[in-house]
Amino acid sequence: LKVIASVEPRIAEATRQELADQRGSLKLIASENYASPAVLLTMGTWFSDKYAEGTVGHRFYAGCQNVDTVESLAAEHARELFGAEYAYVQPHSGIDANLTAYWAILAHRVEGPWLKNVGVKNMNDLTEADWEKLRGELGNQRLLGMSLDAGGHLTHGFRPNISGKMFHQNQYGTDPATGLIDYDALRAKAKEFKPLILVAGYSAYPRRVNFAKMREIADEVGATLMVDMAHFAGLVAGKVFTGEENPVPYADVVTSTSHKSLRGPRGGFILATEEYAPSVDRGCPMVLGGPLSHVMAAKAVAFAEARTTEFQSYAQQVADNAQHLAEGFLKRDTNLVTGGTDNHLVLVDVSSYGLTGRQAESALLDAGVVTNRNSVPADPNGAWYTSGIRLGTPALTTRGFGQAEFDTVAELIVDVLSNTKPGTTKAGGPSKASYVLADGVADRVRAASAEL
Ligand code: PLP
Repeated sequence: LKVIASVEPRIAEATRQELADQRGSLKLIASENYASPAVLLTMGTWFSDKYAEGTVGHRFYAGCQNVDTVESLAAEHARELFGAEYAYVQPHSGIDANLTAYWAILAHRVEGPWLKNVGVKNMNDLTEADWEKLRGELGNQRLLGMSLDAGGHLTHGFRPNISGKMFHQNQYGTDPATGLIDYDALRAKAKEFKPLILVAGYSAYPRRVNFAKMREIADEVGATLMVDMAHFAGLVAGKVFTGEENPVPYADVVTSTSHKSLRGPRGGFILATEEYAPSVDRGCPMVLGGPLSHVMAAKAVAFAEARTTEFQSYAQQVADNAQHLAEGFLKRDTNLVTGGTDNHLVLVDVSSYGLTGRQAESALLDAGVVTNRNSVPADPNGAWYTSGIRLGTPALTTRGFGQAEFDTVAELIVDVLSNTKPGTTKAGGPSKASYVLADGVADRVRAASAEL
């Protein structure tokens, strides 16, 4: 920090403050974690200075021999860790991984066959008229993904997102009675819609997914099955999700982040079958900018960490702790979407406290409990104010929390929620944003958290 401070002291101070905040609060954001010193240090190296567009052994720049070592190792570790035929470790984030995967699937399923049909090998040899036809074909494809309010991600076909604009999109949700994916309803929708791509995976669905069933549905309609395991990659790597809950043997393409439950550096990666590999491999520079070689190096370190038995115990503890957290809420009469969890996250419906997700999130932050507001299925408060808060166990499990600590976490959250009242707007009506947290509660909760 001294070196940074000698150049820009405010950045050094913000960095010091970030460390203090992350240590002094309860980090319950389901997509966050604490990466190891080895992972963090690997990101701060000279690889940051190197350009390396292209792939291993096939670069658009000279002098990439050390990046080749790094990228090959990261890909090899990823293949072994997840049992995948092929791994691509260049995506800079989860969204980049999804975008790269979509274009790879389009290239493999639409562009390649179309070019073959026209009898042209190189796109530059197309006539203007044919080029327009190809663009029309690419723009006329269908994608079916899980809706945002059911727990899917923006990139799974949410209309305002690029994925909802580049495809004709349709969305599946959850059964209103159970909050669970209804595979029969999904099958019926897929049969009617006939997507090119069926996307499975989630950001806020507190349950496991049966990927064998997803495969069956994809096969019945001739869709490519793409699974976005960004949230639960750590549970797959740690062998908590096995058999039909492990997407890798079932999906054509699996995308992921490396920084959530997997506890690596901030970044993305893609696993695929050999069939899709050549198209995915063209991600950079066709979709992605030059790879972040320092981050690829850190991914290799994180994958090496994740193949240890220590990581497997960690991953199991993440899932066990989510159960403990859910039990802590249920015994304190707090509603959970789907009535519980069997992965790493818990979605609390705060409407019975008379609060919006935004009010709950803000009051909890005052008390040093960091969460994010989240829609619940068919949320009456929309995606901005919401009616829920999403909590995840990966970060606090890294800090060593177990059953007793997570029971206390539930107790502290219930303390804040039951002592928060909605505020009023300037006109005197009920507000969805402002709130009043009773005096003394924030200090009480902070003091109790510091004991954990
Ligand atoms: N996919 C899923 C399922 C996610 O939950 C997220 C992040 O929240 C992403 C993709 C995007 O990841 P990133 O923020 O690294 O682009």
